[in-house]
Amino acid sequence: MAKNELDTRFAEFGTVSFASVTGVNDFIGYLENGKLMGTRCEKCGKNYFPPRAHCCDCLSAKMEWFEVAGKGKLVSYSTLQYAPTGFTEEVPYTIALVDYGAYKVFGRIDASVPREELSVGMTLTAESARTANGRLTYVFKK
Ligand SMILES: [Zn+2]
Repeated sequence: MAKNELDTRFAEFGTVSFASVTGVNDFIGYLENGKLMGTRCEKCGKNYFPPRAHCCDCLSAKMEWFEVAGKGKLVSYSTLQYAPTGFTEEVPYTIALVDYGAYKVFGRIDASVPREELSVGMTLTAESARTANGRLTYVFKK
């Protein structure tokens, strides 16, 4: 990328992108390479997902990337029958919160997982994926 070129990689994220430039644009590069990443504060060790460029606990800007890998436990989920602008074509879909111990990840359950098979406490993995229109995202799978 040229020195004065604007890094707008976030414009390619999700069904609807609300920001094209962030302090954590490398998130998109990792996702393109199949890795879902969060950030960890190098000063106090707090983990963030979605990734943050600054720690909101100690205000440090020294952050490092970590991969959201392995299995997390399903904390809660909900199937949406109505959706906000930009997502109305995709209902119904199921959103979930998955606990990885040191951090939690909010996201969507992959359509390949039947809702009847979901139960609080079951293990799920997060994977990079593409939306129906080919944009980058991530989903939870069994
Ligand atoms: Zn911190």
